Amino acid sequence: MSDRYTDIQKRAAYDLIDGIMRIQQDTGVYRHLTCGAPASWTRLTVITWPYNLLVAGSHGSFHFERQGDDTLDMLDWLRRVRVDPAHWAGKLTNGRHSVEEYDRDRLEGLIHERVSEAVRDDWAPVGLREAVSELLADDWMDDQQSAMRLVGEFQHGMTYRSECSCGAFEDHRSYTSAVCWGNVFHKQSGDDHKVTVHETGGFTFDDVFDWQISKLDYHFVYQCYALKWAIARYDRMNRYGLGSLAAPKQVTS
Ligand SMILES: [Zn+2]
Repeated sequence: MSDRYTDIQKRAAYDLIDGIMRIQQDTGVYRHLTCGAPASWTRLTVITWPYNLLVAGSHGSFHFERQGDDTLDMLDWLRRVRVDPAHWAGKLTNGRHSVEEYDRDRLEGLIHERVSEAVRDDWAPVGLREAVSELLADDWMDDQQSAMRLVGEFQHGMTYRSECSCGAFEDHRSYTSAVCWGNVFHKQSGDDHKVTVHETGGFTFDDVFDWQISKLDYHFVYQCYALKWAIARYDRMNRYGLGSLAAPKQVTS
């Protein structure tokens, strides 16, 4: 479990320490549980119906749906598994993306990792670290799409070779000048003079679009731990026969 998840788990446990549960409805798999924790002003509601579970309250509302042999009662499923926000996010009716957000720290971590590899393996062009620092200082790095474009387009210390089929060649520091060499300087006609340009060195982040740079929303992760807490509390109340005591008083007319 990541440190971030551990911190959120501790926060939820701390907030709910004085939580008082009320069982509003408890009819088979149809349940309505509410909880208030006075010290932290945390409110929590859990509603279940076949194959569905809604957790709501101070930290947002999240609706899970899971069709399976063991999920008619969602609590049965959740009792058997440990809290796993990444997996649970896939069961949200709004989809995983609804609880994902840009994780700039993760992006920076991946950038530093690639740069350190190049330095360690001794192929980093001179000035790479400075160029990457400049990239990271760009304000557009705060926006996921812009950041991915900047990182995808980043190049440093590129070298190119223009090579003609006749055997002549020249090395260049820019792609444009490498192309120009064939079109302008080594301008020969005929089938014996086919010029190609290829990269011979330099640094790029070439697999950027496969990078995972999102994290799960804080409140979603919080509600996952709060939900586990609520299930444990509900089960304990039923085990000790306290369920009926926790029910709200019926209003009679
Ligand atoms: Zn030639």
